[in-house]
Amino acid sequence: MTTATILDGKAYAADVCGRVAKKVTKLKAEHGLTPGLAVVLVGEDPASQVYVRNKGKQTLLAGMKSEEVQLPATAAEDEVLSVVQRLNDDPSIHGILVQLPLPDQIDDYAVIDCIDPAKDVDGFHVINSGRLFVGQPSMAPCTPTGCISLLKERFGDLKGKHAIVVGRSNIVGKPMALLLLQEHCTVTIAHSRTVDLAGECRRADILVAAVGRPRMIRGDWIKPGAIVIDVGVNRIETDEGKTKLVGDVAFDEALEVAGAITPVPGGVGPMTIAFLLANTVTAACRQAGIEEPL
Ligand code: NDP
Repeated sequence: MTTATILDGKAYAADVCGRVAKKVTKLKAEHGLTPGLAVVLVGEDPASQVYVRNKGKQTLLAGMKSEEVQLPATAAEDEVLSVVQRLNDDPSIHGILVQLPLPDQIDDYAVIDCIDPAKDVDGFHVINSGRLFVGQPSMAPCTPTGCISLLKERFGDLKGKHAIVVGRSNIVGKPMALLLLQEHCTVTIAHSRTVDLAGECRRADILVAAVGRPRMIRGDWIKPGAIVIDVGVNRIETDEGKTKLVGDVAFDEALEVAGAITPVPGGVGPMTIAFLLANTVTAACRQAGIEEPL
């Protein structure tokens, strides 16, 4: 029996945030540039409020400017569009994130389309998805960017590895698959209609789970020694009547088979905010014509 290495996303995120903060200090000192991130929240969903507050706190901790715009759940689409337009026109704001999902009366795509692609730090605008698709420099979504960065830092060259991404959403599954393809992996994208999902998973050296179904991926679906990245965040009730967060992978079973695995919580989640900050610094540099990688 082997025991997988646990990939500590929290520590990695702290390291990335430290690099972002250093870069921000340098940008301020050498270019008088303070990267700014605006987060727009429509409605009073408590979980979204916590996410937004946390993003604002981390942004300030990195030495950046943070703006939070809160609109009521009854806000009309035009109101949200005019906020986005104002932020597009504000030179002190380099990144704009609209917290999704939006209330039913607002079309998510209309709002995302309105964000200046240069400020689209979530990487959801079709211009950025299109650039990612054709392999041009783009702003890729934060969660898959964090996953690929962790994979490269911890495992080096991914060339030739067989990767499977379970889930084909526009925010995680599809961009994750494209980023793995850019690293020269052989990529399978699986979804709810995939035949023999367990068999497909068993072939993979890298397994990325982005489904939203608690512990769906069992230990015997995993190739011995594979790297498992669990993006899923599922709240379940425990036997004691409390709630806890679990991933899409049956973690205890996977520990005995995989070579390495991200835990939930403490794996992919913290990396998402770290790469939101990193994307904002990248956006600020590009807008100012400064070419410096993080
Ligand atoms: P979506 O609901 O948009 O997509 C889920 C995907 O899983 C779909 O492509 C769906 O297939 C597929 N799927 C559903 N059921 C099955 C099944 N039985 N077998 C195979 N595939 C299945 O979710 P997201 O991509 O937005 O999120 C996925 C998970 O990642 C969620 O738990 C979410 O909370 C989490 N997440 C975590 C983040 C983080 O920072 N850690 C950030 C973003 C998301 P089909 O297309 O055929 O319906």
